[in-house]
Amino acid sequence: MTNDTMQGFMFDDMDIRGVHLRLDQGVKTLLDQQDYPPCVASLLAEMLIVACLLSANLKLRGRLSVQIRGAGPLKWVMAECRQLSDDLEQPFRVKGMAQVDGTVSPDASLIEMVADGRLIITIEPDQGQRYQGIVMVDQATLAECIESYFYQSEQLPTHIQLVSTGEGAAGFMLQRLPQTEANESQSDLDWELVHALAATLSQHELAHLPADQVLHRLFHEQQVKVFSPKPVLQQCDCSRERCGAAIIGLGKTAVDEILDEQEAIIIDCHFCNGHYAFDKVDCYVLLEQDAMPTTADPALH
Ligand SMILES: [Zn+2]
Repeated sequence: MTNDTMQGFMFDDMDIRGVHLRLDQGVKTLLDQQDYPPCVASLLAEMLIVACLLSANLKLRGRLSVQIRGAGPLKWVMAECRQLSDDLEQPFRVKGMAQVDGTVSPDASLIEMVADGRLIITIEPDQGQRYQGIVMVDQATLAECIESYFYQSEQLPTHIQLVSTGEGAAGFMLQRLPQTEANESQSDLDWELVHALAATLSQHELAHLPADQVLHRLFHEQQVKVFSPKPVLQQCDCSRERCGAAIIGLGKTAVDEILDEQEAIIIDCHFCNGHYAFDKVDCYVLLEQDAMPTTADPALH
């Protein structure tokens, strides 16, 4: 079983909440499947952390993805965290991938890797409206880009610290809750204090200390309420069924055209290297099933 866990917390008498996450096994499993340059692997690991921290902080039921698209050698990097309503007892699940086109120098900065990049955060709740926010990647680190995103999009002061060691990754986030006028000046002071304490956490401490020690180290003089820790699992959600649905979505004409030229339709999952092959018989069975009238609709009886 994994030790990768997310730990949410709140301050008793301040409008500030936070999340801590370690992701060692999950990051290792994901990176072992691919052969990314070290700085790309490190960015991808941090993006997995960010997707989880934001999901947890929003108490989201659904999917949240963080992606960066750019014009540099790193074309696209994406991480997704999902926690679906029908399996709330289950761990958070993450997946991620990067698409490199060209040479990324081993010590390239974020801006050199993604050149003219955009950071896109997409929230897809199980119920309710899909939301997407975009900011330029114009800061030196991913953490600063995320803070800038929150400042621009929601004006919510946010502190986020990320670390990736090659063996794993960790992250720590604090966010001020929306304010009412009545409590604003006290909240300003609370935020200044908590933010100043959080800023004393070193990268080495974040990389190596478990959540309870991080919280004790920073906030032993404050009243902090911690929630139940929640496991996080690196797991792709591709399946033969989902690939089949994609083939049905192409429609019979397009499927015929492809199968005139090749023996089978092959779908490779770029997240986990999953490989799905549908030969002519498979494809026609899918299309026929889809074309059959449904008899399950009770309104017809
Ligand atoms: Zn997959």
